[in-house]
Amino acid sequence: MENKPIYRRILLKLSGEALMGSGQFGIDPSALNFFAFEVKAIHDLGVQVGIVIGGGNIFRGIQSAAKGIDKVSGDYMGMLATVINSLAFQCALEALGLETRLQTAITMTSVAEPYIRRKAIRHLEKGRVVIFGGGTGLPNFTTDTTAVLRAIDIGADLIVKGTKVDGIFDSDPMKNPEAKLLKLLTFNDAIIHNLAVMDQTAFTLCRDHKIPIVVLNINKQGNLLKLVQGESIGSLVTS
Ligand code: UDP
Repeated sequence: MENKPIYRRILLKLSGEALMGSGQFGIDPSALNFFAFEVKAIHDLGVQVGIVIGGGNIFRGIQSAAKGIDKVSGDYMGMLATVINSLAFQCALEALGLETRLQTAITMTSVAEPYIRRKAIRHLEKGRVVIFGGGTGLPNFTTDTTAVLRAIDIGADLIVKGTKVDGIFDSDPMKNPEAKLLKLLTFNDAIIHNLAVMDQTAFTLCRDHKIPIVVLNINKQGNLLKLVQGESIGSLVTS
């Protein structure tokens, strides 16, 4: 069958900023709805989907010093921001009829399930989209690292990092119109050249666990679907 997906299970990482849509802060309902449709399209093909959402649209630990908040508290605020985003995205997915579960690394049982690896896998096998909120539960990490850790835990075939540009470039495409898209690179290339697309901890974990990452423009309708159907979309980082 032509539409058959080439991946069985993926982990999608969305930044908090993606949820802002055209806004400057917070959550844009039309962005939520757009991403929910993109996820539904691949779920309908039978791809099992785990999702990690950042919190940058609400709070980043790095902002805390400027606000007179110590860094660790700021990081916890950032992690809680990811839970707010996760709840919003869960609602958007459910509005399209998808079954979902939210698991958090910081236990808050009246809001979400605690993160339990075996349970997450079971949900995925049953066709539920699983959202992992609360980051790693530890300060000093990022949600990119969270995405890789969860991908390793659930045995994902691929990590998809959704960004607002078409992939990984040799320089910042927002600043340099001549920036060249790198279609294929190794983890070592990404680590040595300190490519800003993901932090080094995340890249190193991916390399050591041999999980490929595709970085693509998540704002382009159908990109995610084309990717899982085998088209070469965005940049592929692999060993
Ligand atoms: N954070 C953390 N530990 C984690 C994940 C996230 O302390 O395991 C905090 C950190 O302060 C970070 C914030 O949560 O700045 C929001 O996550 P991130 O910046 O990765 O979000 P994104 O850039 O993807 O929106």
